[in-house]
Amino acid sequence: MTVSPVQSGINVPSLPNVRKENGQREVFCGLTSIVWLHRRMPDAFFLVVGSRTCAHLIQSAAGVMIFAEPRFGTAILGERDLAGIADANEELDRVVSDLLSRRPEIRTLFLVGSCPSEVIKLDLGKAAERLNTRYNGSVRVLNYSGSGIETTFTEGEDQALHSMVPLLPSSDEDQLLIVGTLADGVEERFKKLFHGFGISNVRSLPPRISTDLPPIGKGTRILLAQPFLSVTARALISKGAKLINSIYPLGVEGSAQWMMEAAKAFGVNTHQVEQVISPLVNRGRIALAPFRQELQGKRIFFLPDSQLEIPLARFLCRECGMNLVEVGVPYLDRQIMAPELALLPENTVISEGQHVEYQLERVRSSFPDLVVCGMGLANPLEAEGITTKWSIELVFSPIHGCDQAADLAELFTRPLSRRSLLRWE
Ligand code: SF4
Repeated sequence: MTVSPVQSGINVPSLPNVRKENGQREVFCGLTSIVWLHRRMPDAFFLVVGSRTCAHLIQSAAGVMIFAEPRFGTAILGERDLAGIADANEELDRVVSDLLSRRPEIRTLFLVGSCPSEVIKLDLGKAAERLNTRYNGSVRVLNYSGSGIETTFTEGEDQALHSMVPLLPSSDEDQLLIVGTLADGVEERFKKLFHGFGISNVRSLPPRISTDLPPIGKGTRILLAQPFLSVTARALISKGAKLINSIYPLGVEGSAQWMMEAAKAFGVNTHQVEQVISPLVNRGRIALAPFRQELQGKRIFFLPDSQLEIPLARFLCRECGMNLVEVGVPYLDRQIMAPELALLPENTVISEGQHVEYQLERVRSSFPDLVVCGMGLANPLEAEGITTKWSIELVFSPIHGCDQAADLAELFTRPLSRRSLLRWE
């Protein structure tokens, strides 16, 4: 993935220890993000245009029954489509027509591209245009790619949000725009705190109602809730919004600083903010203390998977006392990661991209206490006696905010406790 520079005034630190790798990758594709996006926007539908493999992936990732049609489905490209014998566009139009006649409550329809639809060069942008004309505003049809050819699973959310940006109305009113899906309860708490600071106009992307789109313009300050939204952030900046540079709201330190940077961007007195958040910070630190005792001094290795690796490494190192053996990321956006990188220990080894064989060799030779990795690598490593944590679980769990810091730390102590209980000697 290439990332164009942003005029954001961020000092990008030099990174002498970034190891670039290119080779076989072991990550889920962007279709996986439909699992949390369809819960976020209940009036939207995600129609994957893909193969039976794509349908199996999304159904097993979401843990739903095959016959229960929730808010996503797959328009399956059969052999005739793939061989170019059938007109895939006609088939797609028919599937969409059937779907919308059965589900008239759908307000936004996302056509989600996959590896097979990209291989046969099915133009979903054109399909969306054609369907928008046909349905004339009764449903909005958007498209994005969830293909796994060159991407990792959290980029699915980035692509989905990016597809919504052209629809955002223009307005230069002052507002704080939180970008990235948060658990509803966590988002409510953050909004309440921002209102307490005097920031009254707080909106979210994605919104909870897919048609309730936040406006965008010169008065918008964007605050990224997730560190994997590079493309969306740049699209919003190109529409006049300003990016608030901050670390991400993981852990007590991250959450407090995230709120503080937002408050500063709106000229709120920092003393006032400290008064509001210091009870939260104290409570968070007290709850975190027993987990710190368990994690302190343990060695952790991150294999590249979710894009959450750097903020998690910062939290586990600075607030839980863990030692970082290596921090792998699928791609490194030096600009939106700059505040996080500045807080990592000077000699942290960061690897960008993946060559899974080389990385596994380094895991084996360093034999860390804990490896954070994708599900496909966890079982083989466990069989070799190496303790693992599934990185995807961190995306599905409500881990943002001071009050969640202890829960977040507990996600890392659990596999260590499990391993010590299973130990024979
Ligand atoms: S989009 Fe590609 S990687 Fe994802 S399930 Fe379909 S075929 Fe597999």
